Amino acid sequence: MLSSYFKGPNDLIKVIVSRNLPATIDRIIRDQGNLVPQQICYQIDHNLYLSITDRCTLECAFCPKTLGDMTVKGYDLTFDHRPTSDEIIEAIDDPSQYNEVVFCGYGEPTMRLNILLEVARNIKARGGRVRVNTDGLSNLVHKHDTLIELGECVDAISISLNAQNQEVYDRHCRPNLPGSYEAMLAFLREAPKHIAEVTATAVEGLEGVDIQACEAIARESGVKFRRRTLDEVG
Ligand code: SF4
Repeated sequence: MLSSYFKGPNDLIKVIVSRNLPATIDRIIRDQGNLVPQQICYQIDHNLYLSITDRCTLECAFCPKTLGDMTVKGYDLTFDHRPTSDEIIEAIDDPSQYNEVVFCGYGEPTMRLNILLEVARNIKARGGRVRVNTDGLSNLVHKHDTLIELGECVDAISISLNAQNQEVYDRHCRPNLPGSYEAMLAFLREAPKHIAEVTATAVEGLEGVDIQACEAIARESGVKFRRRTLDEVG
């Protein structure tokens, strides 16, 4: 590990930096002398979060990234590069010291499915618990049933349901791929066959989003439901 920087108001967040020294130096220079190395991992309370990509299948209107803000709890998740599996594994250190290691950042982790699976298997082999926060579109993107592979190394999955119908979903999530809402629903319904703990989520307070209706979809799909607060990581 190159170093750790503690910056901002929340001492509970531990920033573990990239070991890619040239990219890190480049980033420091670009940030005009402020030490803001790329954060692969960041700790909030007793969970460790992994930021493995900046790419998304959606372009959510409510997302800070869409609005040009790459910070979480005051910490910058801007990418210098997409980290390798070795970099991510090295940055995690001991996964068993956390309640969960969560794939979650300003990007859809299943866009890098092979990297996600390799890192998740490593975390499991070292006694950690794995959760993936996803848009539920990996089957649509990768054109095969990714739940089979995910089920082998993922303990829990949180799927962004976000809306009770396609019209509201498209308005807020602005998917790039046609058929995204239906594909996400199919993924949600299939997920419990492969993954022990499945939770659908929706963001409270977005115009037209009926939280009760979203909860009913989750119940009918045999999964848990959690209402999310805008801008809250987890
Ligand atoms: S999927 Fe997540 S990271 Fe991507 S645009 Fe939507 S809210 Fe932002």
